Amino acid sequence: MSGDSAAASRGAATPLTVVGARLDGEEVGLRCRDGLIEAVGPDVVAEPGDETIDAAGAPLVPSLVNGHTHAAMTLFRGYGGDLPLMRWLQEKIWPIEAKLDAEDVYWGTRLACVEMIRTGTTRFWDMYWQPEATARAVEDAGLRATIGGPLFDADGRTAETQARVLAELEALADRGPAIDLALAPHAIYTVSEGLLHWAVEQAAERGAALHIHLSETEKEVEDCRAAHGVRPAAYLDRLGLLGERTVLAHGVWLDAEELALIAERGATVVANPVANMKLAVGGVLPYAAARQAGVAVGLGTDGAGSNDSLDLFADLKVFALMQRHLSGDATVLPAAEAWGLATGDSAPLLRGGREPLRPGAPADFLLLRKGSYELGLGDLASNLVYAASGSVVDTTVVAGRPLMRGGEVEGAEEILARAAERARKLEIG
Ligand SMILES: [Zn+2]
Repeated sequence: MSGDSAAASRGAATPLTVVGARLDGEEVGLRCRDGLIEAVGPDVVAEPGDETIDAAGAPLVPSLVNGHTHAAMTLFRGYGGDLPLMRWLQEKIWPIEAKLDAEDVYWGTRLACVEMIRTGTTRFWDMYWQPEATARAVEDAGLRATIGGPLFDADGRTAETQARVLAELEALADRGPAIDLALAPHAIYTVSEGLLHWAVEQAAERGAALHIHLSETEKEVEDCRAAHGVRPAAYLDRLGLLGERTVLAHGVWLDAEELALIAERGATVVANPVANMKLAVGGVLPYAAARQAGVAVGLGTDGAGSNDSLDLFADLKVFALMQRHLSGDATVLPAAEAWGLATGDSAPLLRGGREPLRPGAPADFLLLRKGSYELGLGDLASNLVYAASGSVVDTTVVAGRPLMRGGEVEGAEEILARAAERARKLEIG
């Protein structure tokens, strides 16, 4: 770990105080110390020696959580984008992924981190090869992530996968508060029953989360019924994979019975509406039914290979529009509730179980661009969902350390150049 990243995981050494921010209609100050919020409210002022940010009336909001991505896939942006899911994976993605090294993943992830910092995401759930390189990139960028290398044994190499994942888990353990562990079986159609079961055992033993793609295509549901006699959620439940620390990415084809089961087990479903539409999977998570069942729902971008943006504001708008459009009901997802999907409000597991902007919570937050045209008039939540893009973020703070001020991320140009070099080396950039 570099000196920078050690500081990030401890929180900034100098206390940071924001003054003159607007929160829920009142002017507040917010003081951060040792990576946590010490105080927030109208009476909070800077103390001598604090680093101070004068927000000058800018809105203060919680930072965003990207519940499902493959960060290093920024390297694949704009590559093979006009194919359906299985052809895209088999013809374009998997052959190149077989050649990726740790430096490729590191620079691809650094680029993803710049994009996330610029658009207000401070924590993400990642599933990708070379997870130790992902962790280093996250630490060096100053962000937070739950990371797992993909489990995959469709090629029959179960023992090799287990050995690799055990080594990865060792490298990811005990890295400090920036990195949480996950076991990340790729999907039920690429991972054997035995390996899924092994992942459940490993996750329980290490207190790690489980992160899997589920019910992305209708074919996946049909194949699951043919192979196992049940729909995908029931199949995972049979293997003990549905629990309070489980994240299910996609959930496009979940039916009412599956949603009830997922709610009962306390698992989280992360919708990836833009990636679902780009890969033409034929739908998006049925939000009204999921909410009615009591399912914890979050929002993700999926990888930049299939989105191709990491700006969660775009996914938020598309998700809200899709729900209204498909249900024929303009009241199905009120704006404040939609905004809560992007901040992890509706799925506490995604943001580490802590309520944001409270004393004792991690000092992770955003200041929005004061006077931005998109936020100048009208209701803030509605504007954030329907009018804004990530460009309304002015200042991004993680663990009391500003990672972006005035829309500028330090070192961003160099990171883009290094990522482009890696993509050229792989002959995809
Ligand atoms: Zn994915």
